[in-house]
Amino acid sequence: MPEVRFKVDQTKSMREQDVPGHNRWHPDVPIAEMVKPGSEFRMECRDWTDCQVGDNDSANDVRDIDLTIPHMLSGPIGVEGAEPGDLLVVDILDLGPVPQQTGGAAGQGWGYTGIFAKANGGGFLTDYFPDAYKAIWDFHGQQATSRHLPGIRFTGITHPGLFGTAPSAEMLASWNTREQALIDTDPNRVPPLAVPPDATNALAGKATGDLAKRICAEGARTVPARENGGNHDIKNFTRGSRVFYPVNVQDAKLSGGDLHFSQGDGEITFCGAIEMGGFIDFHVDLIKGGMETYGISTNPVFLPGNVEPRYTEFLTFIGISVDHDTDTNYYLDATLAYRRACLNAVEYFKKFGYSGEQAYLLLGSSPIEGRISGIVDIPNACCSLYVPTAMFDFEVRPSPAGPMKADRGKCALSTA
Ligand code: ZN
Repeated sequence: MPEVRFKVDQTKSMREQDVPGHNRWHPDVPIAEMVKPGSEFRMECRDWTDCQVGDNDSANDVRDIDLTIPHMLSGPIGVEGAEPGDLLVVDILDLGPVPQQTGGAAGQGWGYTGIFAKANGGGFLTDYFPDAYKAIWDFHGQQATSRHLPGIRFTGITHPGLFGTAPSAEMLASWNTREQALIDTDPNRVPPLAVPPDATNALAGKATGDLAKRICAEGARTVPARENGGNHDIKNFTRGSRVFYPVNVQDAKLSGGDLHFSQGDGEITFCGAIEMGGFIDFHVDLIKGGMETYGISTNPVFLPGNVEPRYTEFLTFIGISVDHDTDTNYYLDATLAYRRACLNAVEYFKKFGYSGEQAYLLLGSSPIEGRISGIVDIPNACCSLYVPTAMFDFEVRPSPAGPMKADRGKCALSTA
């Protein structure tokens, strides 16, 4: 088994660990441990919120998540000899929930999916589902079931939501400038257009004193994917993947976390994956000067893993860039088209007895495939959403017999 190079005690917050992680991107977060190119090692991770969500039947904890705390990242791991301009080759050898533990921290045998309230970040369908909801999932080896979504069982495609290399000082400055410019176009929007640096609850790893203060004041929030990798939420970053990350600083400084037991393309409820803490095993290497050699300068490239659920039949929903609520046409808007595909799926699953919220939670967390199918046929972009039929323990395909409506329970709700 690979040596653990970043250790997490799941009974303690990230701040209380012997070597704390961090929750902002900054070039000066001190290296937690150094490894050599060619080595294999394990990193242990807290869940992305540092375990603010419990295994219970109320969504009040999702409603009240303090978003100054995420994402809780393990690392940074320094790779000897890595220099700006290199590519860091990262193989994901294995990952999973916290091994051999049950308990109150997400990843200890269970995980959760949350729909965020519009007032606290929202989600892809927040105008239709403005309140907080939650589903708790129990892990059975590779499979997940939920008391909040009866009738469904699926195989997870486990992956890290978020890994990346540290940005250079110049890169960090450009992120902060361009994101502030976007915020300034509509500074009071709910949810906000982007999230600027915020020292509240910021954690700077092993840094102390003035260095820690500077990292917390300047560090970029971890919400979006950026040039260094970051919060990709690509479900196909699974076991067996090989990722090529641009190196921006000496020793590369690889950090991450936000492990997911499963996720649908788009992670549409915002906290749409099945969130968990756990472990991830890596092999790392370097391609010296690889950024220039391969023209990989602004984002990582990767080879997806070859282990994924083997679903062969999909009930597929289609959306186009027309807002059917107002009968308004938009020009090749793939975001709107994907939203309409999701809404079409929600309406369909309601006919089987699920609430809209339950259907929304299912689309965020299960291994659905989302595709941009047509992006040139003016004026309508066309997106499609592939839902594996084998996840359901009842007939879910349309037929003259009609949908098998049943009592499908309910997801965890929040109180007003
Ligand atoms: Zn996540």
